[in-house]
Amino acid sequence: MAMNRDIFTEEHDLFREQVRRFVDKEVAPKIPGWNASGSCDRDVWLRMGAEGFLGANAPAEYGGAGADFLYDAIVVEELARARAHALMMSLHSGVCLPYLTSFGTEEQKRRYVPGAIRGEILLGIAMTEPATGSDLAAVQTTARRDGDHYVVNGSKMFISHGQAGDLFIVVAKTDPTAKPAHRGISLILVEADSPGFVRGRKLDKLGLRGQDTSEIFFEDCRVPVANLLGGEEGRGFMMLMEKLQQERLVIAVGSIASSRRSLEDTVQYTLERRAFGKRIAEFQNTQFKLAELATEVEIGQAFVDKLLAAHVRGEKIVTEVSMAKWWTTELQKRLSGQCLQLHGGYGFMMEYPIASDYADAAVQSIYAGSNEVMKVIIARRLGLEGRPRADEAREG
Ligand SMILES: Cc1cc2nc3c(=O)[nH]c(=O)nc-3n(C[C@H](O)[C@H](O)[C@H](O)COP(=O)(O)OP(=O)(O)OC[C@H]3O[C@@H](n4cnc5c(N)ncnc54)[C@H](O)[C@@H]3O)c2cc1C
Repeated sequence: MAMNRDIFTEEHDLFREQVRRFVDKEVAPKIPGWNASGSCDRDVWLRMGAEGFLGANAPAEYGGAGADFLYDAIVVEELARARAHALMMSLHSGVCLPYLTSFGTEEQKRRYVPGAIRGEILLGIAMTEPATGSDLAAVQTTARRDGDHYVVNGSKMFISHGQAGDLFIVVAKTDPTAKPAHRGISLILVEADSPGFVRGRKLDKLGLRGQDTSEIFFEDCRVPVANLLGGEEGRGFMMLMEKLQQERLVIAVGSIASSRRSLEDTVQYTLERRAFGKRIAEFQNTQFKLAELATEVEIGQAFVDKLLAAHVRGEKIVTEVSMAKWWTTELQKRLSGQCLQLHGGYGFMMEYPIASDYADAAVQSIYAGSNEVMKVIIARRLGLEGRPRADEAREG
């Protein structure tokens, strides 16, 4: 019953059909196994790569399809629709890959981008530390120059793909004394088999059970100087700020797709379940609740589509993307809770997907910049706190 989404062409629709067929056949049957084991197998990444689902938006000269970002968004939506959170393509292709294609030196691009697009090099980004997440300028990890190497030391926390990842974009201070602090930040490409790269615990999480989130340690980890992203020190913070727009948009895209799926399943459930001699769907409370949620999903979709189109045109929409990130993720949390309620006791049972939808939604307002940080950005752009400042938080 969704509205026609006019941002997509016929080619986009054909691509979506192709992705959906693949996800239904190759991905969906594996999800319960991934959720039980807490990780997803590499084979499916390679299959995704072979199908052209990992580098649609990447330049053709490095193995991508050179297509617009809407193709990546379609893959994000279809994986969210299938609840394939274990297969974090949004992180690999939507968040990490653009750092390499936008800022990488020619050698870095040739070395890593084709493998990442084929699914052979699984990407992660290591920003957060045990003592700092929102306040990125306060990271303690250092990268000290020693001849033609950097020696990296520090701990990272909550890193997606921490166990399975092959290459990490690591936020580290090449100049810990810089003032303001963000000017001392660089991004270093660290291969997981580098000496001194240590994978820590795989963390036990409330939701996103199939996806690996881990600690990472750098213990005198030696990385060639050629792995400094972009080849110039002190530009890391600027690169992060530039790429956070797409990261947050990706979250909003996935959030609306997940909400839509929860809603559709709940409509179906209430049509089947009976109480007091009638279907749950016949109670006015059910109808009003679902009508309200369906309305909000369409409002969110319209906003996200507008932002997708603007992003494809290359517009700077940091404020609007921050609005979409907080609003869509709060909607997802609220919607999954209300849909769970309409499932009654079965909603609390893991055999009904709404239970995991509820748990999976919880993190959406926390990562990729917490929703409070999104509101700080918006408030600042409203002029409520003086000029926008680049030296604080994960703000963009
Ligand atoms: C499942 C999962 C996967 C993740 N994957 C990655 C990853 O791949 N790479 C990575 O680097 N990180 C990752 N993270 C980390 C995530 O980005 C951080 O948890 C997030 O940025 C918040 O940082 P924090 O946890 O240190 O919270 P804190 O910074 O300690 O903030 C705690 C709370 O304080 C409040 N707060 C903070 N700052 C402000 C402010 N300025 N104004 C008002 N309130 C504020 C907010 O409510 C916030 O939620 C992941 C986290 C999870 C849970």
